[in-house]
Amino acid sequence: MKIIIRNLIRCNHCGDIIESTHRHDFKTCSCGSVSVDGGHDYLRRCYTNSKRDFTELSVTEEKEPQ
Ligand SMILES: [Zn+2]
Repeated sequence: MKIIIRNLIRCNHCGDIIESTHRHDFKTCSCGSVSVDGGHDYLRRCYTNSKRDFTELSVTEEKEPQ
């Protein structure tokens, strides 16, 4: 299974780095082009034009099931 350590992206338009730190922590950059959500539960991205609107900076880790 994949563990989400950090859930964050950088907006390629305004340069803001936004991080969702918990499940319902919805963050939008200052120019409004991109958003993140999901915290450590899932990686949700919202963008205006395409995935080139942001740079993925999230940190995930593969973990063997216990
Ligand atoms: Zn932006």
